[in-house]
Amino acid sequence: MQILTDIRKSFQWRSSALARHLFSRLPLFAKKWFFRQAVYHPLMVRHRSNSLHTLTDIYLELRTFCNNTCPFCVASRDPRPDQSMPYELYEKIIQDLVDMQFDGTIHYYQTNDPLVVRDFPRFLAHAKQRLPNVRHYVLTNGLALNVKNGRAILEAGCSVLSINVYSDNPVLVIPKNIQRFLDEVLFQIYPRESQSVPIQECKDNFIFKTQSFALYIRRRWMNTILSPRVGTAPNYPVVTKDETFLGFCEMPFTQMTVTADGRVGRCCNDALIPMPMGNARDQTLQEIWNGASYERLRAELLRNNRHADEFCRKCTSLGLHSWRPHTTMQRFCKEWSDQWNPQPDATEDP
Ligand code: SF4
Ligand code: SF4
Repeated sequence: MQILTDIRKSFQWRSSALARHLFSRLPLFAKKWFFRQAVYHPLMVRHRSNSLHTLTDIYLELRTFCNNTCPFCVASRDPRPDQSMPYELYEKIIQDLVDMQFDGTIHYYQTNDPLVVRDFPRFLAHAKQRLPNVRHYVLTNGLALNVKNGRAILEAGCSVLSINVYSDNPVLVIPKNIQRFLDEVLFQIYPRESQSVPIQECKDNFIFKTQSFALYIRRRWMNTILSPRVGTAPNYPVVTKDETFLGFCEMPFTQMTVTADGRVGRCCNDALIPMPMGNARDQTLQEIWNGASYERLRAELLRNNRHADEFCRKCTSLGLHSWRPHTTMQRFCKEWSDQWNPQPDATEDP
């Protein structure tokens, strides 16, 4: 019996390896075709049948400034003036989200670092009080993290604190300010013994989770080339025609971004929002989300067409939001697409 099981497993492994090999040998246009059929098509069917699209993720850029100089990120050479969101505008945006019965994730970053926002814990505490069931996600480079603001962020109701440590050191060394935050704040509030999931010290990641809070510390290489992010990445070579996907994109069906002056972008790849979908100062978020700009863009994307939008036509992102492969073909497509088109760094979930 064991022999038969071994033979069956060996056959399955060999046929899967052969299929994977054959897929890898396909020309680019054929891989893209399979990608469209296996990955985009099921998503398009789902979004076509849902006329009321659900906003699941909103990115709030409370200040247009980052205190780091990553060579792959436009924030290191941000051409915009350093501008902060007025608190009244922020309160109005949170009220809009309450009116929309928003229950997804608020990301307090876009092309910036949230810890350099003046009085950031006050912003966070307000949103937590108005939207207690929402996930409040803070992604930072950790440079400005200290015992005082770290404690204030946790007390304000942060649900996820994700710290990207940018370094080219082959061994990840936790910077002293972050270590102090861990020892003097985090492990005082959440003693190590009481963790529901123990801290995992993997090669490049530190993960700490309780039922209501998660901390991720991840190493990021500084001298690297990541996604072109619609032509904004300073160190990305010229995008070739092969790299542009020009197909469906799921982002405008699930997410929006708002920058310090109220301009609303179509997705997390819309780094500087040069062609806004609306402005939260003059319209409610709901009006913008259901407005003509978003609807026009979605209609074209549901036709597998990024050409119609002047901005999206230059985008190389696969445009998949929290997509996980289910079928063998989808797994092949994912393996290939991960190599062919890595996703942006700044907004990636651990
Ligand atoms: S990747 Fe993050 S830390 Fe680096 S410059 Fe961009 S926003 Fe700042
Ligand atoms: S195609 Fe690119 S720029 Fe356009 S919505 Fe999708 S991810 Fe954003």
